[in-house]
Amino acid sequence: MNTSHTAPVAVPAPQANPAHPVKADYLRIATEEAFAPPELFGMYKKVLEEGKADKGFSSLWGFHFNNPAPRVQHILKYNQEMGAERLAHMDAAGIDIQVLSLTSPGVQVFDEPTAVSYARHANDFLRDAIQKHPTRFVGLTAIAPQNPAEAAKEIQRGATQLDMRGVIVNSHTHGEYLSDRKFWDIFAAAEAHDQPIYLHPCSPPDAMIQPFFEAGLDGAVFGFGVDTSLSALRLITAGVFDHFPKLQIILGHMGEALPFWAYRLDYMHRATSRANRYESLKPLNKKPSEYLQQNFYATNSGVAWEPAIKFTQNFMGEDRVMYAMDYPYQHEVDEVNILDNMDMTLATKRKFFQTNAQTLFKIKL
Ligand code: CA
Repeated sequence: MNTSHTAPVAVPAPQANPAHPVKADYLRIATEEAFAPPELFGMYKKVLEEGKADKGFSSLWGFHFNNPAPRVQHILKYNQEMGAERLAHMDAAGIDIQVLSLTSPGVQVFDEPTAVSYARHANDFLRDAIQKHPTRFVGLTAIAPQNPAEAAKEIQRGATQLDMRGVIVNSHTHGEYLSDRKFWDIFAAAEAHDQPIYLHPCSPPDAMIQPFFEAGLDGAVFGFGVDTSLSALRLITAGVFDHFPKLQIILGHMGEALPFWAYRLDYMHRATSRANRYESLKPLNKKPSEYLQQNFYATNSGVAWEPAIKFTQNFMGEDRVMYAMDYPYQHEVDEVNILDNMDMTLATKRKFFQTNAQTLFKIKL
């Protein structure tokens, strides 16, 4: 009896001592790769000392800054490494190009004046790093949603003066989500300058985090994804894409699981909006699933799992799913081998690793 269609699928784990990925018939462009300018972590420590950070930030970074574990030290060190060692890591993992973004939560933990001025500094720093290695690095503009008008200006400066290819923003800012209309200048600027926005996770806000804390699930293991998928879904239900139909949002971690939710989102959004139960949940021009298919890209950051990637390709279209490593947080060389070995046509694999990112981020080779 052939049971192959019903047998459980094991979740792969990367090898501890992997072979180096071989040269492939495609370039590998990693699209959710983090960096930190040298003074950023000192500024984070100061926010912690002053007691100004929310609970999630305090827990995560308080832990990172006082933990000698090799993985944590690796994360701290290589966020700040923008030269030979980073390039050597890329070479060893077969990564040709990193699309770089300021590490989460970027400037969003700061007060407004600090956030606005430091976003500019971080973007200038990234521009300098890219100019030193223009064939290996591409950058996204960091913004301070604390001041939407300044954030919009910074998107313009990034696009027109710094050669940035998109925008990085983390899920919420001091508990406020971008679905609030006061933030929509950010979307207007991104759409006008054809800059996709990478909506990256951060710790859930204070109003959400307690039950996650109790179970130790507030971080990247689960809480990040819950908060970020909520943040993205709020953009859809608030009508952001009816106002900005060309706006493109990138979600990591297999679209923060939203593709898997699509059927239920459509069914229940229709039922709930027709029932007129909430002022904030009105009928939209399209179904939630259609915005996910037309206004979103997904990357596989943190998820080297073929069935999840294929499902997302089936749902969103294979032109909207891209590769990411999530360096230095998930610096797993063997995940590249796992992904190289996916049972997928070369043409589709090339889209995944190379050409989708090349097109979206306007990368000239
Ligand atoms: Ca990341």
